[in-house]
Amino acid sequence: MAVPKSKITRSRRGNRRSHDTLLADNPNECGNCGELKRPHHVCGACGHYDDREVVSVADDIDLDDDAA
Ligand SMILES: [Zn+2]
Repeated sequence: MAVPKSKITRSRRGNRRSHDTLLADNPNECGNCGELKRPHHVCGACGHYDDREVVSVADDIDLDDDAA
């Protein structure tokens, strides 16, 4: 088993962990529907990007029809 050669001090440990934080994403409002969306991504609510629809969003999915 690999054994650390010396103790990591609280300072060194803290310095290493200073980069461990997770940044919250920075949502933008969708220009079409106003829903919050990730920047430079298609809106998940309405499927619009750059004021045009690129992904059609299904209004209602009937799960009963898919029963195999
Ligand atoms: Zn939208």
